[in-house]
Amino acid sequence: MKLFNSYTNKLEKFTPIKPGEVSIYVCGPTVYSYIHIGNARPVIFFDTVKKYFEHIGYTVKFVSNLTDVDDKIINKALALNTTEKKLSEKYIDAFLSDVEKVQSDTNYIKPKVTDYIDHIIEFIQTLIDKDYAYKKGGDVFFRVDKIKEYGYLSNRNIDDLRSGSRIEVNTKKENPLDFTLWKETDVGIKFLAPFGEGRPGWHTECVAMIDDVFGGKIDIHGGGSGLLFPHHENEIAQSLAVNNHSIANIWMHNGMLNIDDAKMSKSEGTTILVKDLDVNPNVFRLFTLSTHYRSPINYTDDVLENYAVEWEKTQQAYKQLYLKLDLLEKVNETVTLVAPFKGIYQSFKDAMEEDFNTPNGITALQELVKETNQLLRGRHTVEQLRSSLTVFKAIFTVFSLRPQITKLTDKDRKLHRDWQQARTDKDFKRADEIRDVLQGKGIL
Ligand SMILES: [Zn+2]
Repeated sequence: MKLFNSYTNKLEKFTPIKPGEVSIYVCGPTVYSYIHIGNARPVIFFDTVKKYFEHIGYTVKFVSNLTDVDDKIINKALALNTTEKKLSEKYIDAFLSDVEKVQSDTNYIKPKVTDYIDHIIEFIQTLIDKDYAYKKGGDVFFRVDKIKEYGYLSNRNIDDLRSGSRIEVNTKKENPLDFTLWKETDVGIKFLAPFGEGRPGWHTECVAMIDDVFGGKIDIHGGGSGLLFPHHENEIAQSLAVNNHSIANIWMHNGMLNIDDAKMSKSEGTTILVKDLDVNPNVFRLFTLSTHYRSPINYTDDVLENYAVEWEKTQQAYKQLYLKLDLLEKVNETVTLVAPFKGIYQSFKDAMEEDFNTPNGITALQELVKETNQLLRGRHTVEQLRSSLTVFKAIFTVFSLRPQITKLTDKDRKLHRDWQQARTDKDFKRADEIRDVLQGKGIL
């Protein structure tokens, strides 16, 4: 398998740290409002990454945090006269229900900042002890100058960064690039640390969580391309300072999602929230995965309509195939894949193993639909039908697509046989009657 590593800017062969296991960390949401469809892109893409690794036999440890301490949460809680805890709990529930809505797994490890305060404080203390961080008043800042690799991930030159950065109002910092590890606060939730009462900055939580949950370097660190700088750059700087490694072997970043070629904007009302999304989740997933994860993706009603048609075609082919096998009671038999399905499955895997080229994976699915329809129209063997079904199931599992199928009962099977018999006997009245019943049950 080859993956594009944002850290080295190269396509690299993927070799897991522990054979048979993959460790993945993806930066999660700050839980102060509902997520929009752009936030759903990493939720769908990295879920697909996880499911593909599982499909090819890996044990995947998948972790994504929930940022439940942040200025945005504090300010909104104050404005609404509620507590940060109540507010963040509300949006954690909302987030997880959105994750479910787009058919991604929710059963991964989800550390919260409020559960990690001790770890974060300890981590910051280590940075201070090693002279990578300094206290100014009640605040603690990271000393960027001490990391010679700073800017490597985001391809930025530290001198350019410094000359480009505006003179900040915050004169407490030794260097304008230094970032906040701990912030003294007067308002909102506060925690007691040896360096003062306040709250952690955003950049330490992921490093402290990865350290605790995985206990060392991980295989893949993911997130949106907007996190490359400064968030991921700052995560790496802290990890280099404390652990002497850059957190992950592979850094993966997904591109943005635009609506009608424009960046989503809350103020201009061009945001679509996942909770308000009125699109079949299978169609939304097909759409999201139809563009390579590193490229920007454009959401328009027309594009969505095309994928709705695509999904209907896919589901129809699968339904007919399933029905045929169900009538023969051959749905659950194992099979050795035969042509052309063996080849289609191989092209699906090849696509996924070439830096998760999901658009080519979808092309394989379309090929599968075409071949299956041809098969159903002509002469076919159970082995061929079973091969097609096996490949469908594999692709559906990895892409988390859930077609609606009607599972037959013995009574249904008998009814279906009676229908065929009536047709053979040219008893069209009876055939029509039974057909109506079968159609009513969604079988025909
Ligand atoms: Zn992070």
